[in-house]
Amino acid sequence: MSTDLPSFFYNAEVKTWDVIIIGGGIIGLSLAIALRKRGATVLVVERGEPGREASHAAGGMLVDCGLETLSVLQPLATASARMYPEFAQELQFESGMHVDLRDHGTIVFPPPEHVHERPGFTLANLLPVPLAELEPALAEPNRPAFYLKERSVDPRALSTAAWKAAKRHGVDFSSGDEVTEIAVVDGRATGVTTAKTAFQAAKIVNCTGAWSGQIGPHPFPTRPVKGQMLCLLMPQRALLKHVIRTPDVYLIPRSDGRLLVGATVEEAGFDKRTDLATIQRFHRAAVDLVPELRNGKILEDWAGLRPGTPDALPILGATPTHGYYVATGHFRDGILLAPITAEVMAAVIDGHAPEYDLTPFSPERFD
Ligand SMILES: Cc1cc2nc3c(=O)[nH]c(=O)nc-3n(C[C@H](O)[C@H](O)[C@H](O)COP(=O)(O)OP(=O)(O)OC[C@H]3O[C@@H](n4cnc5c(N)ncnc54)[C@H](O)[C@@H]3O)c2cc1C
Repeated sequence: MSTDLPSFFYNAEVKTWDVIIIGGGIIGLSLAIALRKRGATVLVVERGEPGREASHAAGGMLVDCGLETLSVLQPLATASARMYPEFAQELQFESGMHVDLRDHGTIVFPPPEHVHERPGFTLANLLPVPLAELEPALAEPNRPAFYLKERSVDPRALSTAAWKAAKRHGVDFSSGDEVTEIAVVDGRATGVTTAKTAFQAAKIVNCTGAWSGQIGPHPFPTRPVKGQMLCLLMPQRALLKHVIRTPDVYLIPRSDGRLLVGATVEEAGFDKRTDLATIQRFHRAAVDLVPELRNGKILEDWAGLRPGTPDALPILGATPTHGYYVATGHFRDGILLAPITAEVMAAVIDGHAPEYDLTPFSPERFD
């Protein structure tokens, strides 16, 4: 376009949005849908293809139990777990996909110190029936175990469903385009610059997970925390029903007969390679727990990068730059926390008070 056109004419041709979301992981996608429902026009700018990073690598346990959740995060974790059936149902309806939300609960083999130090907890979570009846395929059915009424979901299906649902709601996408900079004029965010072009909006949200600290002007202290994972095909589709957690490994069955075995928690920078010794260790641990898995097939292994923060809490809210927001740092709980993050962040961006106190998650707590 010629630059000697009158400026009003030039601006009239530039498409703008109410909100630009950087990053199309489960957090960015869920937020895009929530903002569209409030009437905002939304563009998601994604470096690769939506839903292919941490949200693709995750196990999908929806863990909101007090023993494993930081107390300051508990209200959001509980609220999000409660929102899940409706969240999943809506995404399924809007995408025509099945996200495999399962409600069989979790069997936890706790570390010995928990059995001794927290007998009340164990008592409150007694197995509904003996372990041998709950999961006949488990070896050692007499070890101490407790039961959690917890759900799981397939994060890959969930992310693809959220992408489809967002498109159906009229969210625009720019995929394969990396944001390099936030445009700031007079202290106010006005858009984003990408490797290929630039986009304008009055409000920008950084949802780039482990990469959130790489875009200025605020160096959010997120870091990648690598998780390796193994996926098996069970010899019988319903060999295991429950999620199983031990101090060393967890097993997450899917309804189609896949079984996820995970995961490492490693400080390895932006390295997403798996190593054979770790994958073999997972396989041995799975077979030790469920001997029949010896007859299962190894389907694939992978690694993903969780968005970690110094205090292991998410970073949620407005930044000191007017119109620039952040929703990142969900670490090990981003699949669980997607529905509540979308709700509270959509409220904040829309200029309303969120239903929950977000002070502990303020981006300014690291200043
Ligand atoms: C092995 C493993 C197991 C896990 N298990 C669970 C679990 O059981 N339960 C649970 O709740 N959570 C789990 N998690 C955590 C969960 O996966 C994450 O917290 C969640 O996916 C974070 O979502 P996100 O959208 O913030 O990040 P991501 O899914 O990583 O998305 C960020 C997106 O931003 C894009 N991006 C980055 N930089 C730019 C840029 N400059 N411009 C444009 N786009 C950019 C990326 O390409 C990516 O698509 C697990 C994670 C791993 C790795």
